Amino acid sequence: MIIVRGLVASLLIGAAFVRPVQAAETLKIASFSTVLTEIAQRVGGAHVTVAGLVRPGQDPHEYQPTPADLEQAADAKLILLSGKHLEHYLDKIQQATGGKAESLAVGDALPTLKMQADPDEPQAKEAADPNGMIDDPHWWNSVANVERATVIVRDTLIKLDQADRTDYEENAKTYLAKLDALNNWAKRKVAELPRDKRKLVTSHDAFQYLARDYGFKIYAIEGVSTETEPSDRHVAELIDDIKKQQVKAIFLENTLNPKVTREITSESGARIGGSLYADGLGDGDGSTYEGLVRHNISTIVDALQ
Ligand SMILES: [Zn+2]
Repeated sequence: MIIVRGLVASLLIGAAFVRPVQAAETLKIASFSTVLTEIAQRVGGAHVTVAGLVRPGQDPHEYQPTPADLEQAADAKLILLSGKHLEHYLDKIQQATGGKAESLAVGDALPTLKMQADPDEPQAKEAADPNGMIDDPHWWNSVANVERATVIVRDTLIKLDQADRTDYEENAKTYLAKLDALNNWAKRKVAELPRDKRKLVTSHDAFQYLARDYGFKIYAIEGVSTETEPSDRHVAELIDDIKKQQVKAIFLENTLNPKVTREITSESGARIGGSLYADGLGDGDGSTYEGLVRHNISTIVDALQ
């Protein structure tokens, strides 16, 4: 990647020494998003070393960087952030890196949907506009957004390492083609479901971007926070909605109080439709982005049919 020209002539005889140095030279990336970790690995290929600091299955709303994570961030040339105010620990990263690394909040460059801020969450309240709305951070649940994110990451890698431009372009092209095929599959799968059945009741309001892409209406059990319990009134209203809309299945996260879950299912007649990957990559099906999307879309469509 880096050739010190002055040395080339003097090393002509010992040219064998040049190669190992080049091979070890990779661009260090620290990623605070599981989806961006995958994108960086696919687009960067052999030219990058990606430290995925938010790990698969970890709740990005609850995540706090450990001292070891901050050390890795300080060591990186590029820091990938989800953006849209998801990282509430930016000051810690800033402190650790001293602003030396290029910091890229990918989500901030993507179109924003708004959502109601959770009134019990001090951080959400702070970021909210006068109408109590905040940016919905869950942009990765739209495949189209992940395609845009791939282009953003590609262009940043090229900016930081122009020598490997063709490889980055080639890798991105391959990954984008996969995402495009995935999006087409998702559209066909959702088309199996009549429009009036595209009603999504979930315990974690994370699927607005998916709903927009594929024509679902969302009935949320609670706001963006995974910490607080929904109010009795909200639960009663939701049970009413589920009955009126004749929704066959609801989708929950295991963080929701099981008592609330039982109350909703027994009183509305809807069954549990299965669990979804709301907050990025996880175990099993969700260990790749493609697997995550296929799991979420299939689970939703099959349960509502
Ligand atoms: Zn979330």
